[in-house]
Amino acid sequence: MIISEKIDEIRKRENVFSNRDRLEDGKTYIPEFLIEESDIDEIIGVLGGIKPVMQDNCFDKDLDRLKRSLNKLEIIYGLNYTISPYKYLINSPNDFCEVVDIDDNREGMVSFSISFETSLNSRSEEFFLKKSKTWDRADEFSRKFGKVMGYPECCLDFGESLSGNIGNIEAMKESMTWSKAHIRSFRNSKDVSDILNIYTVKPLVSHVPCSLDCKESIDYAKKILRLLSEEDRYYADLRRYFLRLNSLFWFYSEFFLLDGEKERNEVKYSDFHKISFSDDVFYGGLTDDLREKMERTQKMLEKGNRLVMNKNFFKVFDGGKEIGRVEKDYPFENILF
Ligand SMILES: [Zn+2]
Repeated sequence: MIISEKIDEIRKRENVFSNRDRLEDGKTYIPEFLIEESDIDEIIGVLGGIKPVMQDNCFDKDLDRLKRSLNKLEIIYGLNYTISPYKYLINSPNDFCEVVDIDDNREGMVSFSISFETSLNSRSEEFFLKKSKTWDRADEFSRKFGKVMGYPECCLDFGESLSGNIGNIEAMKESMTWSKAHIRSFRNSKDVSDILNIYTVKPLVSHVPCSLDCKESIDYAKKILRLLSEEDRYYADLRRYFLRLNSLFWFYSEFFLLDGEKERNEVKYSDFHKISFSDDVFYGGLTDDLREKMERTQKMLEKGNRLVMNKNFFKVFDGGKEIGRVEKDYPFENILF
């Protein structure tokens, strides 16, 4: 229960940023709508000068609330913003992310960018649109987008090296469960550092690092954590708690958090929590096979207190007694962080 309580706690604690009185103490005020619908780290990163621009999406039904909130940032801090004149349809049957006009009557998301420099907002929106729209050049535009966002060069190279099925949507979907960036990043790492734990809720970096010892990504994560500590020590402590957790990881929207001790390829845990939101954001949702594996794993984790990872399967134990095992289709279908 500890993990789910901490998840509730961190959500509640984020509301401290919505208190306007903070401005008098030289701290950051963030409109409530952006706390709920956007990303505190990114906003604080842009305001603190460690991130040149941020980009996010919001449902078009909330467009008025978005504009009101962004206007507040503009008045208080002098931040500029750009909102896309397009809507992005999530789970569209025609495309991974179909782009339509803003007055289309289907529900979709608008993209917005925030920066002190108007030109960065325009470029962010331009490359976000292009990478969403063109599968055959998604690579090129993802890199350009990442560069505008200020991601490290080594991580941009890494992002580019991951492609292999460009233009072939079926192949990309098929390879999703084992070739994704997060797992490749883990495989590239000699050392794993909690500060770059991207296998948890609320990681400190918004890009996928080329490895978990990427120096530039670690520097960025440290800077964000320092800013958060200055803003609200208690909130930063909650974030540190989530960075310390272990994870049985499939992909960024599907994994189990484990509170325990990890030694080599096993974790002794006292609590676990399932994180699963693919069905909300992913095109087509989860495959039946993965859904079945996760449900079976959840039942095993409930009965056990120790998880052991091997190359082709993982096992759950209650003390010395084996509860069960899950075979992997690929050696790196998932990882134990
Ligand atoms: Zn890197």
